[in-house]
Amino acid sequence: MAGILDIYMTSYRCAKLCPAATAAEYFIPNWTYTPSPSISDDHSRRPRIRLSQLTLSNFRNFNSAKADLMPGLIVIQGLNGQGKSNLLEAIYMLSVAKSPRASQDRQLVGWEMLKSGGHSQILGVARESEQTIKVQIDFEVIPAIKAAGDETAQGVASVQKSLRSNGIKRTGSEFVGVFNVVAFAVEDIELVTGGPSVRRRYLDILISQVDPAYLKALQRYQKVTTQRNNMLRLIRERRAGMDELHFWDERLCEEGAGIIERRSIAIDQLTPLAAQSHARLADGDDGLGLEYLPELGPGERPPQMRASEINDTLTQSLAVVRDREIARAVSVIGPHRDELAISLHERDAGSFSSRGQARTIALALKLAEGMLVSNVTGRSPVLALDDVLSELDIRRRRLVLEAAQEYEQVLVTTTDFAMVEAGFLEEASQFQVEDGKLTPR
Ligand code: ATP
Ligand code: MG
Repeated sequence: MAGILDIYMTSYRCAKLCPAATAAEYFIPNWTYTPSPSISDDHSRRPRIRLSQLTLSNFRNFNSAKADLMPGLIVIQGLNGQGKSNLLEAIYMLSVAKSPRASQDRQLVGWEMLKSGGHSQILGVARESEQTIKVQIDFEVIPAIKAAGDETAQGVASVQKSLRSNGIKRTGSEFVGVFNVVAFAVEDIELVTGGPSVRRRYLDILISQVDPAYLKALQRYQKVTTQRNNMLRLIRERRAGMDELHFWDERLCEEGAGIIERRSIAIDQLTPLAAQSHARLADGDDGLGLEYLPELGPGERPPQMRASEINDTLTQSLAVVRDREIARAVSVIGPHRDELAISLHERDAGSFSSRGQARTIALALKLAEGMLVSNVTGRSPVLALDDVLSELDIRRRRLVLEAAQEYEQVLVTTTDFAMVEAGFLEEASQFQVEDGKLTPR
């Protein structure tokens, strides 16, 4: 079972562990993208989803916490290190099945569990119109083994994660998108300042929330590149013939073309939404631009980003880069090398924007993600903003809270209630977090 973020975390591990599969072992059904039916742009009439109850057991520093959550703005205050980010992380995980900041599930369960073993859980009750959806992530913790009479544990605790919605066990791709959350955390500034892989991940999470077939396609593509790299290595070592590469070339081109087509469609939809969100957060500044730069190699770039034409381009390119690929034993073209370029007034935003500007752009991208999820699924997601207010000037803080009002439910964390203007705070439900305890105020 793999959540969307697992793809990033396992890619390099898998390259070492997976033995090269033979062509015959590898069967992949064709993947084609069917655009979702277009939906009215009237956000106010959309079904809206919200979390009505959250229960945590032995998750991070929350031994046991339960909260009933109202629609609208929810302000969660706590001093540094009390559990605010942990709380939003749990809520976000109910959407994408994986934590964006933990590389291993072991980091998520209460530390005591690692010694004693036990059970840890994130349980959410989501409500959409009259419907109730129970979303649940369980962790079974098997402690490290202790030898008799010896206090030192041998080995490390193992953690088994399982996903359920409405009590039924689900795979990662079945679970992702049942309950949608768009989250923004301080480290999301890396969307602008970080490398291309951060932006690919952003795109992949976004598309997976609206199209479960995409997550499956990514998983297949990742296997293809792993196996193809193994094959390139075997050819370099003269342990396999060139003819054995042909199958993997076809797979890379076909799976890669589907992913590139899907990303291209998503970016076309995202670009105006991101520009609109940015203008809203930055006093009318409409200079935000996005450009998709797929890694198609030296082949002729197709005029239209259609899977069949992209497939042809990738096929041409592979023939040109063959020697280089064998010398390096790495697949050098395809969507695993794509870039999403972000510009502000036609200058590269990563290199030229100030910290405050970069933060505003990253937040605009997240709000645009929310709008896109809402446009495609017809359902407005929950917005979770971790500690964003402290880094913005008063005016931008107000603009963020105004923009957030379009969501059915918005969770905002802060170290100080005073960061939230009185007018917003009076209307909000308020909670405090202290040492892993959550209390309504
Ligand atoms: P800040 O305002 O500094 O961002 P925060 O309220 O967001 O603080 P969190 O990141 O939620 O704080 O972390 C709260 C505490 O949880 C930290 O002290 C951290 O050490 C602790 N913690 C993290 N993982 C675990 C875990 N698996 N078990 C128990 N405690 C943990
Ligand atoms: Mg925090």
